[in-house]
Amino acid sequence: MHRQITGKLVIATHNPGKLAEMRELLAPYGIEAVSAGELGLGEPEETGKTFEANARIKAIAAAQAARLPAFADDSGLVVDALDGAPGIYSARWAGPNKDFNDAMARIERLLQERGATAPEKRGARFVSALCVAWPDDHLEQVEAHADGTLVWPPRGSAGFGYDPMFLPDGFDRTFGEMTSIEKHGLPPLGLGLSHRARAFVKLAEICLERR
Ligand code: IMP
Repeated sequence: MHRQITGKLVIATHNPGKLAEMRELLAPYGIEAVSAGELGLGEPEETGKTFEANARIKAIAAAQAARLPAFADDSGLVVDALDGAPGIYSARWAGPNKDFNDAMARIERLLQERGATAPEKRGARFVSALCVAWPDDHLEQVEAHADGTLVWPPRGSAGFGYDPMFLPDGFDRTFGEMTSIEKHGLPPLGLGLSHRARAFVKLAEICLERR
């Protein structure tokens, strides 16, 4: 049986960008979202081997520490020609200075080394795993992805991370050239395009009631 999310929910992130996005997505459901940062909760080590496992680790740690239901996400870029890299290490590829120009250049270098120059050899997807954990150990998990092609040079300065080199299937603008509403927004305003928007819709279908 799926469980409904009601009342107060901890958002298990210390990233202000993600927090703002999650709050926006949750607002129509009358959920009061409080962040792990605001509650002074620590950040667990992400030791999982999959997006799903890491989302679960973060949600369980926050639910246990706050004694409230907690919501976590884990996401990243999976590049076909690189055997799935950077995958769960997407944030780490940017190094301590979070330099995504460097991380994108590294991906491009590896693609060139493997002869992946034609668009059909440059397939990639963004993946988002979401998990809600309750203090009594109940869990709800969903995962979704957005398919696309990697372009070079990067295009656009909107968004974050690997957005400027990701051209979603069916569009001629990269995520870096789209507004946040276009990329993450849900219809009717947005396109419901991003991996996180798609995962959120799946979660809403099983755990949230519009008020
Ligand atoms: P997380 O905070 O562990 O989920 O790290 C996710 C990492 O994946 C981010 O630091 C970005 O590098 C990358 N990533 C995830 N979602 C997106 C996106 O929508 N656009 C660009 N990069 C993303």
